[in-house]
Amino acid sequence: MARYTGPVCKLCRREKQKLFLKGSKCHSDRCPIETKNYPPGQHGMSRRSKFSEYGVQLREKQKVKRIYGLLEAQFRIYFEKANKQKGVTGENLIKMLERRLDNVVFRLGFAPSRKAARQMILHRHFLVNGHTVDIASFLLEPGDEVSVRDKSKKMDVIHNSLRRTKENLYNWLSVDKAKLVGTFVQVPEREEVPLNANEQLIVELYSK
Ligand code: SF4
Repeated sequence: MARYTGPVCKLCRREKQKLFLKGSKCHSDRCPIETKNYPPGQHGMSRRSKFSEYGVQLREKQKVKRIYGLLEAQFRIYFEKANKQKGVTGENLIKMLERRLDNVVFRLGFAPSRKAARQMILHRHFLVNGHTVDIASFLLEPGDEVSVRDKSKKMDVIHNSLRRTKENLYNWLSVDKAKLVGTFVQVPEREEVPLNANEQLIVELYSK
């Protein structure tokens, strides 16, 4: 699957906020947002920060796309699917993105970032309901169980990540850190998802 391979901290600096793309570095004072909170590039510091209506919508879409680690075509497909569902399109979009296996592995604390989760899923370290799944975009259903494969249970990256993760952070997920098993209990409501974004702006952008 195609993916962005450029410098990820630049993406945060472009949005002038932490998108938490790099794991532990994001929580340390080595995070460039702490020291260089202006857009990257030669004119980053002097670039005007007033956006047109289109610019504001575009930046919001870019931000959400980058947080979930998607390319434009993939993101657009999610939007089209969300648009066909009943309910509020923007909320449908976020709910669908939250159901992705890489997102759930990250939120359960088994990986320090979504990017790391994607890599680990690709390397077949996780099972869904007892079966190996190596597709990061796999959409979980309520009640699905995500576990670490027996052979992978000693991986430092998993234990280090779990140590940094607070207990019961999300009420739509449950995790047994000792057994390295988590459950996607239910699809979260939009207000439960800690995502600093206005998805309605994305809907407006794609509806032009
Ligand atoms: Fe973004 Fe993390 Fe890099 Fe900070 S360290 S700029 S939060 S990816």
